[in-house]
Amino acid sequence: MAAPAPQLLPDDADPTFAELIAGRPHLTVHAHDGLTMEEVPLARIAAEVGTPSWVYSAGTLRRRFRALQGALEEARVPSEIHFAVKANPNLAVVRALAKEGAGADIVSEGELRLALAAGIDPAHIVFSGVGKTLGELRFALSHRIGQINAESAEEIGMISDVATELGVTADVALRVNPDVDARTHAKITTGKSENKFGVAIADAPALYARMAATPGVRPVGIAVHIGSQITAGVSAYAAAYAALADLVRGLRAQGLAVERVDCGGGLGIPYRHEPAPSPAALAGAIRGALGNLGVKLMVEPGRWICGPAGVLLTRVILQKHTGSRRFVILDAAMNDLLRPAMYEAWHGIVPVSPQDFVSPVSPCDVVGPVCETGDTFARNRGLPLLEPGSLVAFLDAGAYGAAMSSTYNARPLAAEILVDGDRFATVRARQTQEALLAGQSVPDWLAA
Ligand SMILES: *Cc1c(COP(=O)(O)O)cnc(C)c1O
Repeated sequence: MAAPAPQLLPDDADPTFAELIAGRPHLTVHAHDGLTMEEVPLARIAAEVGTPSWVYSAGTLRRRFRALQGALEEARVPSEIHFAVKANPNLAVVRALAKEGAGADIVSEGELRLALAAGIDPAHIVFSGVGKTLGELRFALSHRIGQINAESAEEIGMISDVATELGVTADVALRVNPDVDARTHAKITTGKSENKFGVAIADAPALYARMAATPGVRPVGIAVHIGSQITAGVSAYAAAYAALADLVRGLRAQGLAVERVDCGGGLGIPYRHEPAPSPAALAGAIRGALGNLGVKLMVEPGRWICGPAGVLLTRVILQKHTGSRRFVILDAAMNDLLRPAMYEAWHGIVPVSPQDFVSPVSPCDVVGPVCETGDTFARNRGLPLLEPGSLVAFLDAGAYGAAMSSTYNARPLAAEILVDGDRFATVRARQTQEALLAGQSVPDWLAA
């Protein structure tokens, strides 16, 4: 790997703190209280709950859900919105969205249990994923969930076995792989033929016909999901939906019923200043290709709804200088927020105190305490000199943040807090050191 560039100037392509805050209406900076989410100063949360902590804005979750719903209605493609629980499987977050009318897109029994606990009607739950176990299928079908998205002939057989055993009929959509390039990060592109997801569109007609003749299975429609953090316009969506529309017409010409089309998720958000497509543009792509088919439409957004709604609130442990570089070492690490290490992701990092917010910035590397060089959140980032104990917030950490955390380096999972107007509550307690050890044991031959 090439040696990193010397720290001379912060990357001037980075947005300023003021620009970052201006684009996030739930965040404001108060002269006295500093960075504030809705009406709650983040410093107050840090004082009461400690750090690192994930903090979510309930108002933003609602506002974004309604904006997406409004865009779909405006484009005359009213659709069921199934929140992709994997983006943020916090019970209170899913509950807030359930109260807005969201259904759920789930990928495991755990997520299904969470969606049910959040009060989502099983009829509005869709089960996605390439490898559902027989146990998971049994759990899902015995709870009469609305739809299973099948991803292979083999899986259709498994669904049939379980449905027959339970004496029920499973509503199954066939997930197709449209072989389009969503032009996102390689680790989160899912709609190309070399990806593991779905069935080849050329194989779909025969499989769909076979589903219609399979006991315990009722084919209800077609599903697609081409990738995540899609920011390069909606042309990949349009291409995928056009292929789906052709498929639906072909199936109907064979005399097969197609009632639903599940359009997937993946709508990107601007972490830095990417020109992310709007929900209106997505709605337009859906309308253009699928609007006249007379099918029930569904979408499965995760990140777009909850990503901007969350921050990761963390404290500076110390600053150290080695050679010409300044390192800001935080009490959050890659085990908390994995995205920079995993996807080279950029997150806005802003100070919390009002003084730090207006102090001159200089370049630094922002890192966590974990014993890996990959535990680097940012290089050459412009931040003020930060005393030990200073607070900073990672922006847009509400999706694939806490959800992807681990306890690597025996670090307890961080707390999660929901802010709603002037109220806030801990919605997941910080994991205790005792809980980290719980469940582990030493076999008796080693104990003596
Ligand atoms: C991950 C996933 C989603 C949500 O993706 P986002 O990029 O968060 O919108 C939707 N559907 C399926 C099948 C997924 O795997």
